[in-house]
Amino acid sequence: MAEAVQFNLKPDDVPTAWYNILPDMAAQGMPPLPPLHPGTHEPVTPDLLLALFPESIVKQEVSAEPTIDIPGGVLDVYRLWRPTPLYRARRLEKALQTPAHIYFKYEGTSPVGSHKPNTAVAQAYYNKEAGTKRLTTETGAGQWGSALSMGCAFFGLECLVFMVKASYYQKPYRRVLMETFGAEVRPSPTSTTEAGKKILEGDPESPGSLGIAISEAIEAAVTGTDTKYSIGSVANHVLLHQTVIGQEARKQMDLAGQYPDVVIGCVGGGSNYAGLAYPFMQDRLNGKRDTTFIACEPAACPTLTKGKFAYDFGDTGQMTPLFPMYTIGHQFVPAPVHAGGLRYHGDAPSLSLLVKHGHMEARAYTQNPVFEAAVQFTRAEGIIPGPEPAHAVRAVIDEAIEARESGKEKVILFNLSGHGHFDMQAYDDYLAGRLPEVEFRQADVDAAMTKLPPVPVPG
Ligand SMILES: *Cc1c(COP(=O)(O)O)cnc(C)c1O
Repeated sequence: MAEAVQFNLKPDDVPTAWYNILPDMAAQGMPPLPPLHPGTHEPVTPDLLLALFPESIVKQEVSAEPTIDIPGGVLDVYRLWRPTPLYRARRLEKALQTPAHIYFKYEGTSPVGSHKPNTAVAQAYYNKEAGTKRLTTETGAGQWGSALSMGCAFFGLECLVFMVKASYYQKPYRRVLMETFGAEVRPSPTSTTEAGKKILEGDPESPGSLGIAISEAIEAAVTGTDTKYSIGSVANHVLLHQTVIGQEARKQMDLAGQYPDVVIGCVGGGSNYAGLAYPFMQDRLNGKRDTTFIACEPAACPTLTKGKFAYDFGDTGQMTPLFPMYTIGHQFVPAPVHAGGLRYHGDAPSLSLLVKHGHMEARAYTQNPVFEAAVQFTRAEGIIPGPEPAHAVRAVIDEAIEARESGKEKVILFNLSGHGHFDMQAYDDYLAGRLPEVEFRQADVDAAMTKLPPVPVPG
């Protein structure tokens, strides 16, 4: 029989509930730390969150239930592309001459080419149910903006997107994709919000950042009528929605007859990686498995590897609550690297806590080794990874080479969170030798760290 490379599920195998890791973490001595009010530094009350999100989402954000049922209206849309495929990268294994087994879950088969619709659709659905007319949001490379634009189009909501200026000009086709779905897209920082104006006064040439765009989107939501805000990563409810990825992957690894020794993903705010990893992390937390978890980030924005676990704002304009997380400071503006989706100063609180407690490790890479790995992957498997999951591919290849050198047969699973069809400029730059090796500047991080709010973290 031919060697299997695809491990496919049936339409009925789409998960019908999301997995909430918070109670499992709490049971292992990692209870969620409360977000704090930006002014009083007291734990936030729900009314602060209700200004931004519908009640159904706020409930999920703080839920202690181990699972939350997925509404039928969301499942109907998930079925357009879910379950997504799981592949074994046999051709890459051969090219690397590694005894490692390399599996990847491919989220690039969604209509917009990434995992992001898993939460965009759910958020649009709950907002529609609650009577919201318009959603505002930020986007880096445009994946989140296009996912939410699609979600809004499906549920008849207006969509206003603040797109990080560096990406707005680097990736014009994603803007057109959002506009095709009917969204309005503005290059952030804009002069249409107070938060944007303040940044432009200090630096008229600011390339923007996710932190700045979040401030603008929140301001537009709280000052607009029937308008709410929607976030593409970091928040508990976003990671929750993404767990459909890992739940499917578990069943697919069962089909393959294997369990991963190593689970790898890229981390911008943490949602795609948590989505794949948490259903496996559950086994580690319950003492059933000893899986290694590796989170990958850009050296230009090294939140987990160089940051500090602290209470910090989610945005540059200090409008959000303070979140307990790894951060390199809400004022840090990372260099405009191609992995726009990884240019965020913080990370999801639950993922940060898992790193802090040693359940996950983190690695940072500069651009050229990342694209070298991505090109190697493309030539073996045919799929062009987005610049973000290309960071995960780097770690996968390093692990596979390590397996070859140590002669150990290990099972590696990673999340190929999206394709790179809208990112060919990045590949063009790499292939032409024009890709700058951008590291973070320690002085910039040090300066940003002095602006952290003076709030101690328990533990
Ligand atoms: C947005 C994005 C990321 C980074 O965000 P996370 O919340 O960390 O997942 C990674 N990969 C792709 C394809 C993205 O669109």
